[in-house]
Amino acid sequence: MKKNSSSISLTRNIVPLIVCCCMAIKLSLCFSSLESSLRALHIQGSFSFDGNEFAAKDFGNQIHFLPFAVLHPKKVSDIATTIQHVWQMGSGSGLTVAARGHGHSLQGQAQAPHGIVINMESLTGKEMTVHEGKFTYVDVSAGELWINILHECLKQGLAPKSWTDYLHLTVGGTLSNAGISGQAFRHGPQISNVHQLEVVTGKGEVVVCSEEQNADLFHGVLGGLGQFGIITRARIALEPAPKMVKWIRVLYSDFSTFARDQEHLISAENTFDYIEGLVIINKSGLVNYWRSSFNLHDTTQANQFISDGKTLFCLELTKNFNPHEADTIDMEVDSLLSQLNYITSTLFITEVSYVEFLDRVHTAELKLRSKGIWDLPHPWLNLIIPKSQISIFADVVFGNILTDTNNGPVLVYPVNKSMWDNRTSFVLPEEDIFYLVAFLPHAVPSSTEHDGLQYILSLNKRILDFCEAANLGVKQYLPHYTTREEWQAHFGRRWEIFMQRKLAYDPLAILAPGQRIFQKAVSIL
Ligand code: FAD
Repeated sequence: MKKNSSSISLTRNIVPLIVCCCMAIKLSLCFSSLESSLRALHIQGSFSFDGNEFAAKDFGNQIHFLPFAVLHPKKVSDIATTIQHVWQMGSGSGLTVAARGHGHSLQGQAQAPHGIVINMESLTGKEMTVHEGKFTYVDVSAGELWINILHECLKQGLAPKSWTDYLHLTVGGTLSNAGISGQAFRHGPQISNVHQLEVVTGKGEVVVCSEEQNADLFHGVLGGLGQFGIITRARIALEPAPKMVKWIRVLYSDFSTFARDQEHLISAENTFDYIEGLVIINKSGLVNYWRSSFNLHDTTQANQFISDGKTLFCLELTKNFNPHEADTIDMEVDSLLSQLNYITSTLFITEVSYVEFLDRVHTAELKLRSKGIWDLPHPWLNLIIPKSQISIFADVVFGNILTDTNNGPVLVYPVNKSMWDNRTSFVLPEEDIFYLVAFLPHAVPSSTEHDGLQYILSLNKRILDFCEAANLGVKQYLPHYTTREEWQAHFGRRWEIFMQRKLAYDPLAILAPGQRIFQKAVSIL
């Protein structure tokens, strides 16, 4: 029998509707049974199922996926119990789990769409304990902020050796990446300054690991982008903390002289304690701006120094000291500076406490917050560039692609590979020295000018396209890719071992879905 056209269109409309309704009912049954199964778990912390918008936000402010639930753990066993539960649901559940440190990721890396986010900051666990001996270290919960660790260790005159520029980040968050700053040339990144970790794997097992014990998991988790386990505790190397620092900035107009001086300083025996650099393009009023916090050595000449319309390179240095060294520190700094070739009238020096220096970005944060800039999207791009390619990169990118640095700083500084461990998951370039180049702009979503999100994203793409076309061997730091091929290319010959570790420690791909490296096989329906 022939159906008339209205019954065909009715069928066409109704069938999908029924399918959708069935799916929605199944989904809501699925979610309600999931909710009750999570509520039934014996944990000391709690789950929240509403008011979880914070877990769909991060510093990048471009990607927002709401989780199904947030776990606020009190004990490590809360995390283990939850992951065991998800593990036992098998691949059919599609449910994933992401640890959230301080949510300062850039592209949703700490989010779990419809999954479970673990709010690591609520895991306070045991108190921080400092151990002094042959190796001086502090045991901390992985949800601890580095700023709190600093304050706690300073009570005993100690401090971690290696830092990030900003300390309001968690231990678990930075150890999952690397943790790089101006001390890395000497001490290596934060992942080179950890003695031991406690980790909950993707099967819900709690494992203590170090160089000596479960070494493969230890190395895998460091720089492992959260793929192999959730770090719950870390043993961080400490050193005696200085009280004060001399904080110095000098300017160059020529990249090769600037880079030569940086490379000289990171290789010298007697050198500064912190070495970074900034690119300044077409920034007006720079000298006046810095004058508010730095002293100028040669005020008369510096007053005539104009940064507008110029491309400049700023070498940023510190020298640590204690009050009893106050008489000799200036001579020491002068002697180190005399080896450098900066523009002599551009020597800016100030003296601040060690804490003030380390927490400097937080001071900037407060200013940016008061102007409403801190919460804007941050289309950041961080690159690792082999030393042999840095001048061609600088020529094209600083000399041509980038027309100004008014939306945020651009950092550029070299580090020594010898201070990195090539057994971790961090992908290292082949060469002994490599540069970190960090483009750190904020963006105004609606703007069509140079501060607009789309403009900056297209600028980032131009930079990446150039690196690829010129075959510079550049790697992304805090990497963000969307396809398996791109991830494979990022890891190169380390991809095989990364896959093997995933298979060993998180075979169902439950962990850190926001990195978009692996996908749990079956969807919720
Ligand atoms: P989140 O963003 O919460 O998490 C990051 C990733 O790690 C996610 O995939 C998450 O699932 C995973 N993760 C979090 N906690 C754990 C855990 N306990 N176990 C396993 N996986 C976990 N980086 C540098 O190296 N040097 C810098 O100088 C530097 N400066 C920065 C300055 C600012 C203002 C900002 C916003 C970021 C900076 N970063 C820097 C980047 C920063 O190190 C990373 O974004 C880091 O991931 C942020 O830590 P978080 O605690 O907010 O982690």
